[in-house]
Amino acid sequence: MNESAKLVGVGTKGLRFLQLIFVDINGVPKGMEVPIGRYEEAVEDGIPFDGSSIPGFQGIEDSDLIFKADPSTYAEVPWEGIARVYGYIYKDEKPYWADPRGILKKTLEKLEKEGFKAYIGPEPEFYLFKKNGTWELHLPDSGGYFDIVTLDKARELRREIALYMPSFGLVPEVLHHEVGRAQHEIDFRYDEALRTADNVVSFKYIVKSIAEMRGFHATFMPKPLYGFPGNGMHLHISLWKGGENAFIGEEGLSETALHFMAGILKHAKALTALTNPTVNSYKRLVPGYEAPVYISWGYRNRSALIRIPAFRGNGARIEYRCPDPSANPYLAFSAILMAGLDGIKRKLEPEAYVETNVYEMSEEDREKLGIETLPGSLGEALEELKKDKVVKTALGDAYQNFMKYKEAEWEAYTEYLESKGLPEDTKNVTEWELERYFYV
Ligand code: GLU
Ligand code: MG
Ligand code: MG
Repeated sequence: MNESAKLVGVGTKGLRFLQLIFVDINGVPKGMEVPIGRYEEAVEDGIPFDGSSIPGFQGIEDSDLIFKADPSTYAEVPWEGIARVYGYIYKDEKPYWADPRGILKKTLEKLEKEGFKAYIGPEPEFYLFKKNGTWELHLPDSGGYFDIVTLDKARELRREIALYMPSFGLVPEVLHHEVGRAQHEIDFRYDEALRTADNVVSFKYIVKSIAEMRGFHATFMPKPLYGFPGNGMHLHISLWKGGENAFIGEEGLSETALHFMAGILKHAKALTALTNPTVNSYKRLVPGYEAPVYISWGYRNRSALIRIPAFRGNGARIEYRCPDPSANPYLAFSAILMAGLDGIKRKLEPEAYVETNVYEMSEEDREKLGIETLPGSLGEALEELKKDKVVKTALGDAYQNFMKYKEAEWEAYTEYLESKGLPEDTKNVTEWELERYFYV
C-alpha cells in the first residue's frame, strides 16, 4: 500500500470513501463523504458537520451537529466502489431533536416499553421515464398490470435493481409491472420498523441510481401523470410481543390488532400529513386508481384505507394503503405506530367496516356506516395535524419545524395556483409539482 492510500485507509477491497447518510425533514437522503479510514472514528466519536442548510434542521445561529455512524447499517455500493452507513445525529452530546431516524428510534423505545416490536413491509411503486434532457420525458413502455413483456429494457432494469438490493441488506421478494404504463413495483422483505425505514431510503437510492445509469429516470412522485395511476407505498404492519406475532387471534386477527387498527383509523386524517406529505400526494388520493379516499377497513376490499390480507401462520398483519413514497419513512412510521398504540391503550374498536366498493356507495350510505373522507389537500391535512395531539407527539420537538416547513410548501403552491388562475382544488398535476417533486 502506498502512502497516500494509507492516508485514506484503502480497505482490502480498494474502498476509499465512506458516505455518512441521514435524511432531512422530507426523507431525502443527505450525506458527506469521509475517507474510509475514518470509519471507526465515525462510529465511536462521530463526525462533526454544519447542519444549517439542511431542510427542517435548525438555523445558522446554532448548527454544530455530530453524525454517529450505526455500524449495523454498513453497506458497500457495488457500482461506485464506496461504502455507506446510516447514523444518528447528536447535538451537545444529546440526540438531535430534528433527526428523523432518532425520532423513530425514540418511538420504538416507547413501543418497547409496552412490550411491542413493530415490523413493517412496504410496497413502493415508481414510474420509469426515458430521459431526453428535460423532465418532459416519455414513458418507455406500454405494459399494464402484471404484463411480462413490455417491449423494452424496463423488465431487465427491474431485475437489475433487484439483483443489487441484497448488497444493501434488502431482500427482494416480488417484482412486477404495475397498472400504469411504465409503472413498476418491487417488494422487499418486511423487517423491524427502523430497518425498514432505512431500507425504503436505500431502495429509492438504488432504483434511481440504476435507472440513471441506464438512461432512465425513476420517479417516486405520488402522481406524476394526471389520468394515470399514482405511486403508492402500502405498508404491511404487525406488532410482535415476546417473539410472537401479537396480531394473531384465535380466529383471524387478535384484539390487539383490531385496537391498533382502530387507532390508525381514528387518527387517519392527521396521519396523512406524514404519510402523504406533499402537495402532489393529494392528486393520488382520488377515486378510480386503487388509492384510498375514504376512511374504512375490510378484508379483501382494495377500496378500503386498511385491508386485512389473507394470512397463514405468522403473516397476520394489516395493510395500510394510504402512504406514498414521498413520505419520510421515519416520521411516517413514528406517527402510524403512535396512532396504533393509542388505539391499543384506549381499547378502541374499529368502525367503518365495508366489504363493498366504497367508491360506489352513496354519500348517505357512507354516512350511515360512519365512513369519513381523507383530507383532500396538504392544506387540509396540516389543519388536521394541528388538532391531533397523539400524532403531533410522535414527532416530538420536530413538530414545529415540520409544520412551518410544510405550511410554506402549501402556501407557495396556492400562490402559484393563484398566479395561474387555477382553482385551489384542481386535481391536475401542475408544472409547479413536477419541478418540485419529479426528481426527489
Ligand atoms: N397504485 C395504487 C396506489 O396508488 C396501488 C395499486 C395496488 O393495489 O398495488 O395505491
Ligand atoms: Mg402495487
Ligand atoms: Mg398492496
